[in-house]
Amino acid sequence: MRIDLHTHSNVSDGTDTPAELVVAAAKAGLDVVALTDHDTFDGLDRAVAAGRDHGVEVVRGLELSCSHEHQSVHLLAYGADPEAAALAQEMVRVREGRTGRLRPVLDLLEGLGVPVTEEQVMAQVGSSPSVGRPHIADALVEAGWVADRREAFDRFLADGGPAHVARYAIEVAHGIDLVHAAGGVAVIAHPWGRGREGLLPPDYLAELVAEHHLDGIEVDHQDHDADARARLWRLVDELGVLGTGSSDYHGTGKTDHDLGVNTTRPEVYDELRLRLRVAV
Ligand code: AMP
Ligand code: ZN
Ligand code: FE
Ligand code: FE
Repeated sequence: MRIDLHTHSNVSDGTDTPAELVVAAAKAGLDVVALTDHDTFDGLDRAVAAGRDHGVEVVRGLELSCSHEHQSVHLLAYGADPEAAALAQEMVRVREGRTGRLRPVLDLLEGLGVPVTEEQVMAQVGSSPSVGRPHIADALVEAGWVADRREAFDRFLADGGPAHVARYAIEVAHGIDLVHAAGGVAVIAHPWGRGREGLLPPDYLAELVAEHHLDGIEVDHQDHDADARARLWRLVDELGVLGTGSSDYHGTGKTDHDLGVNTTRPEVYDELRLRLRVAV
């Protein structure tokens, strides 16, 4: 059993359609794939239908943009009910906040001598219901200002970068509560990636487990080096939560994130599946 629990389609900032992603998952030899687009459930029905056609079990997922101490924290949710009002309302606010900062970011980019127009960004958006930094990065690539998304983030768009503009996000503890209220399973995404270890130290992760019943921690992820993974596995054992592994595939939008590059152990997936209220 090969299980990948974190992937993106062009319904957020990946480049495959949901159906293409499922076909790619089948080709990569995956038995189970979760579609976890940022802040939207829009691609899930298409992915589940494609899963039936191609013999891949598709888990209904989501990656919710949260924050802690004004920094970005991502929360994976599995099996959350798209009709749950409180979660849906927060997702609208996140999406509006993301799209609403496009103009100020473009103004900063112009000031930095790398102008792109709103139209150039919109041409990169696919069927995403919000416009995120990766789309702006793609427009910078298309305009020839940078070679790839990574350079766009490193030079301009990364948190704290010269063209970074903060946006609305939910406090992660509140996000966990909303996911649970929607019947979902909550797993912190790549907690120690991109220098976040100081933001989410072991005692804070323990607090999220003790006080908000966080279900799991994503351990095997490309943003975690071997040392971070080893220490997170020990923490997962100590806390008695689910430890997952996944690719965080974005199609051609992210290199080194091929489908199945990291996977979740079957016994962990079995446990996660038991906690899902919706059948997969
Ligand atoms: P946004 O939600 O618009 O703030 O964009 C966040 C998305 O940008 C994340 O989900 C990642 O896919 C991507 N991202 C954030 N920081 C970086 C970075 N330093 N390098 C590459 N991609 C990044
Ligand atoms: Zn993404
Ligand atoms: Fe993420
Ligand atoms: Fe992701």
